[in-house]
Amino acid sequence: MEQNNGDGNMAQVRHVVLVLSGKGGVGKSTITTELALALRHAGKKVGILDVDLCGPSIPRMLNIVHTDVHQCDSGWVPVYTDAQKSLALMSIGFLLEDPDEAVVWRGPKKTALIGQFVSDVAWGELDVLLVDTPPGTSDEHLAVLENMKKHSRIDGAILVTTPQAVSTGDVRREITFCKKTGVKILGIIENMSGFICPHCSECSNIFSKGGGEELAQLTGSVFLGSVPLDPLLSSSLEEGRDFIQSFPDSATFSSIS
Ligand code: ADP
Repeated sequence: MEQNNGDGNMAQVRHVVLVLSGKGGVGKSTITTELALALRHAGKKVGILDVDLCGPSIPRMLNIVHTDVHQCDSGWVPVYTDAQKSLALMSIGFLLEDPDEAVVWRGPKKTALIGQFVSDVAWGELDVLLVDTPPGTSDEHLAVLENMKKHSRIDGAILVTTPQAVSTGDVRREITFCKKTGVKILGIIENMSGFICPHCSECSNIFSKGGGEELAQLTGSVFLGSVPLDPLLSSSLEEGRDFIQSFPDSATFSSIS
């Protein structure tokens, strides 16, 4: 890729994709993590920028919690999950002395850190940079947009929802946010769509299903697929295990990959 010095550390990042959700707990960080792992298994170089400053869960999901971030001439060196450096992560979790410490910051301080995250992380060459954002539409989102737009670097956003969140309108607000800020919606993923029984692997629809697809049709967005609630996936995330590598025969694997 051609080097563009104006873009600094972002110069060799080919695509930037935001991962958004209307509210917390719908599996946004889960989907970000699994997307990154799926892309890595497909041979891509992937980065994750975790700007969920008050709830940075990705270091735990990737089993790299107690890792220090080092400095190099061009800024912070992200933390790599593997020796081949195919998956890199930058998160506030690495900058806190205690990973369980609460981040109680006002908007300007958060905005300043996000500015630094966008300009000062030495990503090197990446095929895709996934940006895990906090739920809703907050200072952090605006800071990411403003800083990334300086580099004309946002390809679009993936919206994560649960079947129930669709009916409460949270995800619709996210869609309005994208429209107002000119961020292209790359697609909608419905998470926690049915429950995979750990005994018989049958999928039961304990909540409604299909709302994400309906919403995609209504808003003219692409429906990217649904991921069931799978106890194997949640235990993999708790233990920081690579679900895609561990359970390639599972039904959830086929929906993720
Ligand atoms: P968010 O980032 O939207 O706040 P998380 O990704 O942290 O949500 O997910 C919340 C919890 O739900 C986590 O404990 C995660 O392990 C679990 N979870 C998310 N999606 C699934 C899924 N499809 N199957 C099983 N557990 C899931």
